[in-house]
Amino acid sequence: MRLTLLGTGTSQGVPVIACSCEVCRSADPRDSHLRTSALLETDEGKNILIDIGPDFRTQMLVNRVEHVDAILLTHPHRDHVAGIDDIRPLNYMQKSAIDIYGNAFTLRVLKHDYAYIFAPHQYPGLPEAQLHEVESGKPFMAAGCQVLPLQVMHKDMPILAYRFGKLAYITDANYIGEQEMAMLEGVEVLVVNALRKEKHFSHFCLEEALHVVEQLHPRQAVLTHVSHEMGLYAEVAATLPQGVTIGTDGMTVEV
Ligand SMILES: [Zn+2]
Ligand SMILES: [Zn+2]
Ligand SMILES: [Zn+2]
Repeated sequence: MRLTLLGTGTSQGVPVIACSCEVCRSADPRDSHLRTSALLETDEGKNILIDIGPDFRTQMLVNRVEHVDAILLTHPHRDHVAGIDDIRPLNYMQKSAIDIYGNAFTLRVLKHDYAYIFAPHQYPGLPEAQLHEVESGKPFMAAGCQVLPLQVMHKDMPILAYRFGKLAYITDANYIGEQEMAMLEGVEVLVVNALRKEKHFSHFCLEEALHVVEQLHPRQAVLTHVSHEMGLYAEVAATLPQGVTIGTDGMTVEV
């Protein structure tokens, strides 16, 4: 299977509107990050999207994605769900609702914040989604692919990371429990969030993310959900241990 990082930036994206720091002004395309999301292409040719943020439409067009067979949500923060209204063309092309998976809290917030999508009396042309509640530690099938959801903490919000065989995808975490670390053992490719060098109250900073990498020692680790406060790509990349890279939009990893 192949994972494409559709976006690798934190909630405001990079560059940040109205910011004139050296990262936001950088001409290096590796310093630009759309909001965090990824697309997993399974060996059977199915497309599983992880999170559907505000840059979803752009990400579908730039990467020429022609179908989405399932959407896995990590949590209901806007930078991870705000693109949901734009599933409409996919509903139309695929002639079906899209299966969306998430924990109970995420689905509850989604139904509340996007009430028009889930209202009992629908008018034509609305996004069509079928919600499926999943629970940490209980594997499920999405678009024919086995997925293991894992609870990680985003400050005091329990959110989901996802493991697909030898690949794990963790975003917006700032703490992973012992039990979940054990469930992550043996991953060969790890995508994990790293916001910036300085510590943060709800996201791993660079040092904390590297500590997770060190404990799980995957063959390849990719940092995502980065902020402009991380510093210039070229400078930070040069300091990273072997096998660890900062994620860039459009980058792919094969497992
Ligand atoms: Zn986020
Ligand atoms: Zn900036
Ligand atoms: Zn978040």
